[in-house]
Amino acid sequence: MFSFMALRTRCLIGLLAAGIVLSLTGCSDDDAPAPRPSALERIKDEGVLRVVTRNSPATYFEDRNGETGFEYELVKRFAEDLGVKLQIETADNLDDLFIRLNNPAGPELAAAGLVATEGRQGQASFSVPYLAVTPQVIYRNGQQRPTRPEDLIGKRILVLKGSSHAEQLGELKLQYPELNYEVSDAVEVVDLLRMVDEGQIDLTLVDSNELAMNQVYFSNVRVAFDLGDARSLAWAVAGGGDRSLLDEVDQFIGRVEKNGTLQRLKERYYGHVDVLGYVGAYTFATHLQQRLPRYEQHFRKAAQTEKVDWRLLAAIGYQESLWQPDATSKTGVRGMMMLTLGTAQAMGVANRLDPRQSIIGGSKYFAQIHEGLADDLTEPDRTWFALAAYNVGIAHLSDARKLAEAEGLDPNKWLDVKKMLPRLAQKQWYSKTRYGYARGGEAVQFVANIRRYYDILTWVTQPQMESNQIVESGLHVPGVAKDEVLDRQTPPL
Ligand code: GLU
Repeated sequence: MFSFMALRTRCLIGLLAAGIVLSLTGCSDDDAPAPRPSALERIKDEGVLRVVTRNSPATYFEDRNGETGFEYELVKRFAEDLGVKLQIETADNLDDLFIRLNNPAGPELAAAGLVATEGRQGQASFSVPYLAVTPQVIYRNGQQRPTRPEDLIGKRILVLKGSSHAEQLGELKLQYPELNYEVSDAVEVVDLLRMVDEGQIDLTLVDSNELAMNQVYFSNVRVAFDLGDARSLAWAVAGGGDRSLLDEVDQFIGRVEKNGTLQRLKERYYGHVDVLGYVGAYTFATHLQQRLPRYEQHFRKAAQTEKVDWRLLAAIGYQESLWQPDATSKTGVRGMMMLTLGTAQAMGVANRLDPRQSIIGGSKYFAQIHEGLADDLTEPDRTWFALAAYNVGIAHLSDARKLAEAEGLDPNKWLDVKKMLPRLAQKQWYSKTRYGYARGGEAVQFVANIRRYYDILTWVTQPQMESNQIVESGLHVPGVAKDEVLDRQTPPL
């Protein structure tokens, strides 16, 4: 920019000296380089948006369908809106992330669950917020619960190096010089939570969104108290004057806030606790550790036979019986997959209380429903339809699809049909359907729960987690599958 101005000035002086009156543009066309394009123009010219993020369940990771995570999903939509390709890179830690962002040859945007803190203002410029989070002190269930900042003194505290929490603790230490804490650049939030869960450290500090995402994996982790007020997560660009990309981001965030996309993503990624409740989340984590390993092998085997993801079958099993092979309900359904007598017989299950048989039978039944659905139903909706039919029956599902069509909705979209299913319990609607009354609302809940468990199982069993964190923590032990007799409880059905 500086050399361009200098050149223009020289050019102008030259013209004046010669007494020739010419327009400035006429001169600079030949002599001056074109103005340097803005960051946004460069991205559009190159057709690529390069984004740096963190590899963690709350931001970016690989799942059954490839890349996913809250930040990824959001930034992917942003790149689509810009009409450019998305290129993701993951930083080793937060310091590395800001170094990359400030490298002129590096990524243009950071989308990494970052709090727009005061201390970061020199390193980055932040967009408008897309999520409000609260910093939470985390302790282990069974230990004395800290309730105020003074209670942190004398505890083993570990937080991410370069994080908003390290910054907060630094400020707190000015007030309480006896406060000590450590920082690490070799761990991620999941590791901090695991270390509290296992008692390797006393306390950590994480943002509420991270806890909501991860609570389901760590049964001993509890919130002690909120350290301060809510803060904003925002995307960041390198510090400096060029706001072209940020302005575009701000407009994008405004749009996704308005059209509901942001809310849907929040619910999907950070909503586990909203759906399961905190108690449900701890319970799931406990069952994942104590029950699933005994049956995992059966789910994997059945999945192979039926060509279905084993984690989807395991998610159905959890929804049906909380992975309890002797589950029974008043309506006469029984066993791990809660089969009716009729279905069990049709699937060749002799003993519904035998977990292996129940899993094989339930999986076969699910696969048959999935296969029998209309050809024009495509994935992933096809799977959600199959789950709904598994619960409420194919006939009622077809009624709901017809209701959708009559309302001008798309009978092939789960999002549309799920709005119609609860109507099957209302006389004004079911009286006009072919198959009549059904508890369609339950089917919608059934599908929502299974999708939630499926998402969680997908994260826990991704190769990266299996090979380090979860296996080490004993949360998920692949290959252990003994048919031990389980604790004899009836699940709340
Ligand atoms: N949000 C944190 C930060 O901005 C990092 C992740 C966390 O601990 O929640 O530093």
